Amino acid sequence: MTDRYAVFGNPIGHSKSPRIHALFAAQTGQDISYEAILVERGSFPAAVDAFMAADTAPARGANVTVPFKEEAFRLATRRTPRAEAAGAVNTLSFDAGAIIGDNTDGAGLVRDLKHNLGCDPAGRRILLLGAGGAARGVILPLLLENPAELVIANRTEETAARLALEFGRLPGCAVSVKPDGIGFAGLAGRAFDLVINATSAGLSGAVLPLPTAVFAPRCVAYEMVYGRATPFMNQARAAGARVADGLGMLVEQAAEAFFVWRGVRPRTASVLAALKTP
Ligand code: NDP
Repeated sequence: MTDRYAVFGNPIGHSKSPRIHALFAAQTGQDISYEAILVERGSFPAAVDAFMAADTAPARGANVTVPFKEEAFRLATRRTPRAEAAGAVNTLSFDAGAIIGDNTDGAGLVRDLKHNLGCDPAGRRILLLGAGGAARGVILPLLLENPAELVIANRTEETAARLALEFGRLPGCAVSVKPDGIGFAGLAGRAFDLVINATSAGLSGAVLPLPTAVFAPRCVAYEMVYGRATPFMNQARAAGARVADGLGMLVEQAAEAFFVWRGVRPRTASVLAALKTP
């Protein structure tokens, strides 16, 4: 019988997830359906309940996107360690009444960097711009790759400082580097090998106040936003950095979710290529 999956969000019409998972299913021969569900604010638990209760075919899992990742975290009856660290859930698995919450965003970013872009975070000086949900989700996976340093810079300095403090004392976590949290003014005179933009500034076209020198020679600049050229990408390119957008992260977080659900890891290169073709 076909197993049912979905992505919940608002807005959701633009979501590429149904196409990505349909391509994964065709490639791996898995019998699944995957739909996009628009959820009104305040109705997230009810929407998940309704999806699980529909008796057409078994509901096995769901992805969760903006603005429901924190609510999904609270709804989960069990959570993986990476979801606990992120404080947000983007992947739910339904198992005999239990709702298991996971977060595959960080794994998706690391996989895109290492496998698609040839940019291993190990030993690199990393600058993470932003301290919202997207930044939170990638800090632990980046730290576990043993970078030379990880600096979190945010418009609101206190949020970056708080996040650095929190991830600097994670219990039972064998990470060799403690992150530093600063405001943008603290970037003067510093240089990084990998700069990741996890702010939403690109969505409004806002320009981040970055000194050109933050992009070290041979720097990789990663913009989490995808589907548009952002001011960050233009700044990085002008400074000589190699620039990537977040489409690879989107596909890789989906592949990780597919693996969590189905136990099969789809190949992503052909899916990424298909998404880049209009
Ligand atoms: P949040 O709203 O949680 O956080 C927004 C962050 O951006 C904050 O750090 C905020 O700073 C900062 N910010 C917003 N506007 C500006 C500005 N004009 N100048 C400087 N900083 C600014 O958003 P998320 O963390 O959930 O998402 C961030 C981005 O990541 C989104 O664009 C999202 O699309 C993308 N994303 C991409 C994914 C992918 O798979 N490619 C996955 C997840 C997210 P402050 O604290 O000062 O307000």
